[in-house]
Amino acid sequence: MTDRQPFCEPDLARQVAGATRPVRSILDSALCGNEVSLDEGETLFAATGADIAAICAVADHMRAEANGDRVSFVVNRNINFTNICYMGCRFCGFAKRAEAPDAEWLPIPEIVARAQEAWSRGGTELCIQGGLHPRMDGTYYGEIVQAIKSELPQMHIHAFSPFEIWYGAAKTKQDYRSFLTDLKSCGLGSMPGTAAEILDVEVRRKLTKNKLSAEAWVEIIRTAHSVGIRTSATIMYGHVDGPRHWAAHIDLLRSIQKDTGGFTELVPLSFVHTDSPLYRQNPDQVRAGPTAAEVDKMHAVSRIMLRGWIDNIQVSWTKLGAERARDMLSAGVNDLGGTLMNESISRSAGSTHGQEITAGELCRIIRSASRVPVRRNTLYEIQEVFDDHDPVDLEPLVARNSHDPLAFLEMFPERRATR
Ligand code: SF4
Repeated sequence: MTDRQPFCEPDLARQVAGATRPVRSILDSALCGNEVSLDEGETLFAATGADIAAICAVADHMRAEANGDRVSFVVNRNINFTNICYMGCRFCGFAKRAEAPDAEWLPIPEIVARAQEAWSRGGTELCIQGGLHPRMDGTYYGEIVQAIKSELPQMHIHAFSPFEIWYGAAKTKQDYRSFLTDLKSCGLGSMPGTAAEILDVEVRRKLTKNKLSAEAWVEIIRTAHSVGIRTSATIMYGHVDGPRHWAAHIDLLRSIQKDTGGFTELVPLSFVHTDSPLYRQNPDQVRAGPTAAEVDKMHAVSRIMLRGWIDNIQVSWTKLGAERARDMLSAGVNDLGGTLMNESISRSAGSTHGQEITAGELCRIIRSASRVPVRRNTLYEIQEVFDDHDPVDLEPLVARNSHDPLAFLEMFPERRATR
């Protein structure tokens, strides 16, 4: 135990005091600066009732310690350059066969045109991912990056999941290190740490037939960090998993971060079951996504377990919607992700939370929680603080859903945070 004293805000102390003994003991210890172990993390993830409020209060306290009252976002664009993929991951509602009427393949000039449009709208990041098209050359990944960088040298390219790196390296007969080093020299800035799902052999077997093993995911991420490519970290939860898997997954991410320091943030991704074959074929064995309490706990316990190692916890508004994303700002979250402009992956799985949110809308959400909006770049360097002005807002690039995703804000008058 360290010699730090527990933090004694009256509300926080009251909420922790109201928790059951095992949870209270873990939270008191965490507030004293001690690391939450895997077993303790499992206890927190399994918590119920008033314990959840205590966990969220501690996570919110740790968020304030690490990030103050700022909540960040990035102006970015998603480009899913193909949805043609034969890997057959059972949870995936995105992949299509080449002959399907809604199969998509974006040629490089179209990808560059979308990148230019994003740049003209203030975008600083492109998030590029695609299916593993069976006829695609492994060199195509580098060609995409080079084509964009030759037109937009300042644009940050955040691209290619570890599954795509695994595929590209196999296709080019390179090891991960040389494939990633080549991509970096083409101009790759960072990578999404997607395709992690749950880093557990049994769960992965059910989700992905373990085609990309947990070991391979970890090796690719560690190699990326070692060649200077930073990545996000993700967890996809709410299907055939549970508290033990979640705690082990977060513990593994923490151990990687202790060695490499390469993760920029954690993004919990709730399983969207609606159009997922995994759920449709096994509705008795697969859960229809996480419960509301599990969503709260995922963000809050991750904040507590990763304290001091990964201090950016992002909520995915495309998975949860704007209202629940706002709720997560009180459960350890300090980042709302990106504007996206074209979100395809969650939408294909049945998510109805829209494809784009503007910078102005993100600022409204953040201010409604009495926090200060800040625009960041991909590596979490602050670009602009909106403490006394609003962003120049543009019309959304894509058509909206028929419902207004921000209608709930009518209940929350806009407030600027006071310090
Ligand atoms: S998750 Fe990715 S690799 Fe798996 S089937 Fe879907 S697009 Fe293909």
